Amino acid sequence: MLAPPLQRLVTELAKLPGIGNRTAQRLAFHVLRTSDLDARALAQAIIDVKEKITFCEICFNLAEGPRCAICLDERRDRSVICVVEEPNDVIPVERTHEFRGRYHVLGGALSPIDGVEPEDLRLAQLYARIAGGEIREVVLATNPTTTGEATALHVAGELHARTPDVAVTRLASGLPVGGDLEYADEVTLGRAFAGRRAL
Ligand SMILES: [Zn+2]
Repeated sequence: MLAPPLQRLVTELAKLPGIGNRTAQRLAFHVLRTSDLDARALAQAIIDVKEKITFCEICFNLAEGPRCAICLDERRDRSVICVVEEPNDVIPVERTHEFRGRYHVLGGALSPIDGVEPEDLRLAQLYARIAGGEIREVVLATNPTTTGEATALHVAGELHARTPDVAVTRLASGLPVGGDLEYADEVTLGRAFAGRRAL
């Protein structure tokens, strides 16, 4: 029913998470009405994010270049690593201002049902970083979900065996169970950080 170029835009937009067909249509018509300049800016932003954003070679956070802004920041404490599942989990932790160390982004959580095994996560890289000897604490800030908890327990077990001198901590309870770090408000997450306990 729609002209093919418009239908193509609807199809592409509908692939985005949380965007159903009707919302995709509404957005496509909005793009059609918008100025040339705005439409091009949107298209260019999408191209740029794919071309210019890479993963940090140290922590696997998003970076523009080989290293992320946090790993490049000399004021950040090198002796503490906060382990998170995804790059977007770094943002809520940063918002709390409770953490001055560095990160390690696993790229997911263990989930045997979905076929996510330890070797699918950036665990070898984490152990290699810690084997360097500079690290005194690893904070496991995986999500308070079943898979996030399983990942934290697995990593804690490995770290105790590999590097027994390194403290392994987990965020205090109080985070909404089953929720993602992303959705925790900064006060709750800040408290969970301040009250982290040994694992
Ligand atoms: Zn980094």
